[in-house]
Amino acid sequence: MANKVHTGIIIDPSQLSSREPSKHLDELKRYIDSKSCYYSGPLNHAQITKIEKKAAYQCRMKILFENRELSWTKKATKKRINHSIQPIFDIWLDYQFQLPISAEKKSEQKRSLSEHDYTSNCEVCQGEGNLTCTNHRCVNGSEKCLSCSQGLKSDGTRCSLCKDGLIICKTCSGKGRLQCTKCEGYGVFLHSATLRVWWETRVSMWYYQDSFLPEDKIAHVNKASMWSKSETPWTKESAIEDFVRTINEDNSSVPLKSNIVRDYKDKHLNETMKLSNQMRRLECDIERLDFEEIEYVLEAKYTNKKDFSRGNRFRFCQYSDAQGRHIIYENDYPLNSCGCMGGCCACYNCSCAIL
Ligand SMILES: [Zn+2]
Ligand SMILES: [Zn+2]
Ligand SMILES: [Zn+2]
Repeated sequence: MANKVHTGIIIDPSQLSSREPSKHLDELKRYIDSKSCYYSGPLNHAQITKIEKKAAYQCRMKILFENRELSWTKKATKKRINHSIQPIFDIWLDYQFQLPISAEKKSEQKRSLSEHDYTSNCEVCQGEGNLTCTNHRCVNGSEKCLSCSQGLKSDGTRCSLCKDGLIICKTCSGKGRLQCTKCEGYGVFLHSATLRVWWETRVSMWYYQDSFLPEDKIAHVNKASMWSKSETPWTKESAIEDFVRTINEDNSSVPLKSNIVRDYKDKHLNETMKLSNQMRRLECDIERLDFEEIEYVLEAKYTNKKDFSRGNRFRFCQYSDAQGRHIIYENDYPLNSCGCMGGCCACYNCSCAIL
């Protein structure tokens, strides 16, 4: 473990005169004055006690996941294939696909596995393509005429309805057999496999810091690109500890590597371990925001209601936007409500404007 460099400045309040101009307090006062209900009066007697250099990190992780699905179609066919047993193969190991360069959107490919085609006999007609006529009086396509006896009627005349006492069977049109409707007379089914492969990217955004800046503040301000890495192929068995090895966290009090390892395992690996999909590529970008965390004290009558343990000590963060303007974030200033009506009315309130 590298020694952490402590970059904060501790200021002894007794060394500072309350009348000494402070750039940080001036900026805080300007900020408080810009808020409609805040009251900046107490800042006239404020003193800065600590200025610390801090950093917040935004880590964007993208994982390309691959899914595979095999589907079989069955179609009546004339041709018989030599092998007529369903083949055994591994849809993950036996086929390789070119990965999409970027899979921000879903993408997919389909491959017909014709080398695994096989045929099977129709289970209704046992591969014959036809069945015995269903008319139980039909013998080889003819049935006996019921109006005569061997072509002669009772009055001795020839029967006009039949030929020598036999009528052609209407059910099978004289063929004696019926076409199998299951296989349309082919007797055989061809089974063909299609392998569908599709990719999707899981994107996650994690924020790490040792201060109290809200994530949306970190997200929407310009940050410096700090580290970026992409690895293909990547699998669920790949070691995330090796992947993050080159992250330089020497000058940071935030344990970036172990945070990323923990979040990767919790939010991606463990969630998807039991799924039949595969990880194919891992990408990770880290951006850094440098800022100052400033602590100040107000007169003893003001208490930090956000955190009582801090007594009359308060904090704010200051960082720069893309134009170099200073931005202030604070969440514990005590007179943030109804200050427009003067100090006596102002009090701390998280959300309401008028008590
Ligand atoms: Zn059949
Ligand atoms: Zn007849
Ligand atoms: Zn028949």
